[in-house]
Amino acid sequence: MVVNSVHWFRKGLRLHDNPALQEALNGADTVRCVYILDPWFAGSANVGINRWRFLLEALEDLDSSLKKLNSRLFVVRGQPTDVFPRLFKEWNVTRLTFEYDPEPYGKERDGAIIKMAQEFGVETIVRNSHTLYNLDRIIEMNNNSPPLTFKRFQTIVSRLELPRRPLPLVTQEQMDKCCTKIADNHDQLYSIPSLEELGFRTDGLRPAVWHGGESEALDRLSKHLDKKVWVTSLENPRVNTCSLYANPTGLSPYLRFGCLSCRVLYYNLRELYMKVRKRCTPPLSLFGQLLWREFFYTAATNNPNFDHMDGNPICVQIPWDQNPEALAKWAEGRTGFPWIDAIMTQLRQEGWIHHLARHAVACFLTRGDLWISWESGMKVFEELLLDADWSVNAGSWMWLSCSAFFQQFFHCYCPVGFGRRTDPSGDYIRHYVPILKDYPNRYIYEPWNAPESLQKAANCVVGVDYPKPMINHAESSRLNIERMKQVYQQLSHYRGLSKLSHPLLIIRKTLC
Ligand SMILES: Cc1cc2nc3c(=O)[nH]c(=O)nc-3n(C[C@H](O)[C@H](O)[C@H](O)COP(=O)(O)OP(=O)(O)OC[C@H]3O[C@@H](n4cnc5c(N)ncnc54)[C@H](O)[C@@H]3O)c2cc1C
Repeated sequence: MVVNSVHWFRKGLRLHDNPALQEALNGADTVRCVYILDPWFAGSANVGINRWRFLLEALEDLDSSLKKLNSRLFVVRGQPTDVFPRLFKEWNVTRLTFEYDPEPYGKERDGAIIKMAQEFGVETIVRNSHTLYNLDRIIEMNNNSPPLTFKRFQTIVSRLELPRRPLPLVTQEQMDKCCTKIADNHDQLYSIPSLEELGFRTDGLRPAVWHGGESEALDRLSKHLDKKVWVTSLENPRVNTCSLYANPTGLSPYLRFGCLSCRVLYYNLRELYMKVRKRCTPPLSLFGQLLWREFFYTAATNNPNFDHMDGNPICVQIPWDQNPEALAKWAEGRTGFPWIDAIMTQLRQEGWIHHLARHAVACFLTRGDLWISWESGMKVFEELLLDADWSVNAGSWMWLSCSAFFQQFFHCYCPVGFGRRTDPSGDYIRHYVPILKDYPNRYIYEPWNAPESLQKAANCVVGVDYPKPMINHAESSRLNIERMKQVYQQLSHYRGLSKLSHPLLIIRKTLC
């Protein structure tokens, strides 16, 4: 029987460690690599221009790698449910392969496609490679519910066998066996769209700081490993001014789009550790960051309301304020706090900010200063972050706002002191808020306290050239800690009364 395979790329934009793609190639007569995109919806999706650009670059890179193997990427315009019936008939497809998507929306979409494929007599093969572990197995081992503390999660993971080993890159020999004729008009029919086709205006667009694609990801991986000298001590390097800038070792957008396999990163870290530590088995903490990613994926996989407060069984229902004006000031970097404004400007311009910078702005928006819901902040991150990831983003926002997982509400980040400690030189502020460039270090984090003569000499008068601070941090954080304390006191009161065993279920029940 003739086997005509289609491999459907969504995330997992790579040729290395791609088990579903390997299944497509296995014994096939033809293989077509497809990416489905609806330009009509692109502009209206909550995805900013930087992330689209990153995705298009990742597709270009994939296409160029496939070209080297005498194949091509087929970018098909439309919605999967409309596109597949057409492709199944046109290409006599007998096998459809794709990577398992653990997110609730993805599972629903894929369920519909699998059903449709069955009706067309097309076999579907789905393989897990976006996460290290089988998330359902973790849930099963935790009495059929996701672990809600990182400690518990680590305990379960420590009982699991090691993640599957990564698969090698697709080879020329494999491709040759199932070579598919590429039409002369391939570029007209299946080209990668431009940003303009997706409805974006590109005049004045700054050059990209992060470039999408598997080639870039693999290049970064080796730099990332070179930097991991702490592997011997298991201590994270201290955050300083340099850490705040985009760096050539950052991996999160590449893991998000699957340009880099998390298993490749896992095994490279493991081998590096064993080499440095003379074959000692590495502790779980070596994979801390990767495990946080798995933790949020596990918590979200069966919870379609994970990105909402309403209807979300793990989320504390906090009576946040509605304040669109304050939200806009935060999102546009006009708070009057240089540390917050610099971070939000970097996010908007470049699409990536450091983990602690994320802490600073998330705390400021929610429980620290503005008392605005984490959902609003999450949406802004979703639009602007290159690595915006449904599960990790919502999970991190709930965590930072004390809405789930973590409840140390009595500590708030100071939007002046935190910045000053991280970047005493103030250079980060000068870079992203250049209007303040002539301020001396002493006042650059709190320009409103500078004498008027100094403000004038620095060509930036607060309230005229740069906004006054939108809030009194000392007062608002004190009030907010009190509000949060009341929420949690109420919870613990109910917790005592409830017969339910799960603390967060009790929380939810209490505050509805
Ligand atoms: C409010 C908030 C929102 C966030 N939203 C996202 C998001 O949408 N997507 C995202 O990938 N990360 C998110 N993070 C987590 C973290 O900030 C980024 O993963 C990290 O800054 C990426 O930088 P890196 O690649 O240098 O990470 P490294 O420190 O080098 O870590 C390696 C990889 O591990 C993963 N990782 C690291 N830290 C975390 C973490 N705390 N939680 C989950 N995964 C982690 C990332 O995939 C990362 O690339 C968020 C954090 C906060 C506080």
